[in-house]
Order: sequence, then structure tokens, then C-alpha cells
Amino acid sequence: MPKAWIALGGNIGDVLQSFRSVRHALQKHPSCTIIASSLVYQTPPIGPEGQDDYFNAVLQIQTTFTPIELLNHLQDLEQQHGRIRHEHWGARTLDLDIIAYDDLILAEERLTLPHPHMHWRQFVLRPMCDISPDYLHPIRQQTAQTLLNNILNSGEEALPDGKKW
Ligand code: ATP
Ligand code: MG
Ligand code: MG
Repeated sequence: MPKAWIALGGNIGDVLQSFRSVRHALQKHPSCTIIASSLVYQTPPIGPEGQDDYFNAVLQIQTTFTPIELLNHLQDLEQQHGRIRHEHWGARTLDLDIIAYDDLILAEERLTLPHPHMHWRQFVLRPMCDISPDYLHPIRQQTAQTLLNNILNSGEEALPDGKKW
């Protein structure tokens, strides 16, 4: 069965409660099983100034959804958790991105896989390395751990330790 990695992010409201609710909803859905759950990391915002810190985590699932079906389902969950789309990279209650779906490479209007920014985002790679350090990026041919090390070696400050959720 295909495996997928989902990045959770948010910085408005009770974000951890939303994360738990999403994990629970995915776990009980007949098309998904959660295989692994990272720690949650608190990260400073990028994009527009004046936002609160973000929370970020990654889930690994096994799924019978196709990639587009999974995207549709995640967008439904975003809506159910009150996501309103404002400015690009602005504050949000919940962002659910597909980081990768097996080793599929896709560049469609609605879906790019692997996620086009994952390789330079510590807030994705750090939680990803909790659960799948050996994940191999199919384009860059580097593991999640190597991609994270690249960022840290370039001088970016490491995020504070994660917490259980
Ligand atoms: P970023 O992509 O920089 O993380 P974002 O997550 O804030 O930005 P959204 O507003 O959540 O951006 O999504 C914009 C569009 O991105 C979605 O409507 C979706 O169709 C598209 N998209 C493309 N690839 C992916 C992916 N791998 N996961 C989720 N959405 C994707
Ligand atoms: Mg995103
Ligand atoms: Mg998104």
C-alpha cells in the first residue's frame, strides 16, 4: 500500500488541538492508517510580519487514496478546522501539505510532489527526521537527514526540541 508524508502547520487558535483532531480523523478514515507521528516543533513564522509562532509536525500514513484524493481529503480537513485563505504564507489555523507520496514525482496544477519547498524547510525536515530520516528525495537523491544537515551546516539555527502531542 502506498505511503505518504503529511506536514501539519498552523499558528492561530488551539493548533495542537487541531493537530490531534486531524490525526484522529486520518486514523479512523477507512482509506488511511497512521504509521508514525513526529514530535511537534514550535517555529518562528516566515512571510508577513506580526504573526504568532507556528507549530509544525509530520505524519506518515499508509493510504489507498490516490494523491489527488488525498489532497482533496486534506483540503476538506483544513476547511473543517476553519481555514480561511488570506494572504500567501499568512497566518492560518491549519495547513496540511503532502510532502511526498511514495517516490512519486508530479508537477500538476493542483499538486507538486515531492512538496516543492520541503528540501529547504527545517520545519518540515526536522519532524520528518523524527520518523523517516532515511526517506530518499526522488529528485535530489538525498535523504531527509542529509537535507536537514545541509540546512544546519549552512548556518541556520536548529529549532528548539520538539514535544509529544
Ligand atoms: P506552501 O506551498 O508554500 O507550503 P501553502 O501551504 O500556504 O504554501 P496553500 O494555500 O495551502 O499554500 O495551498 C495552495 C495550493 O497548493 C493548494 O490549493 C494546492 O492545490 C497546491 N499544492 C501543490 N502541491 C501541493 C502539495 N504537495 N501539498 C498540498 N498542496 C499543494
Ligand atoms: Mg504549506
Ligand atoms: Mg498548504
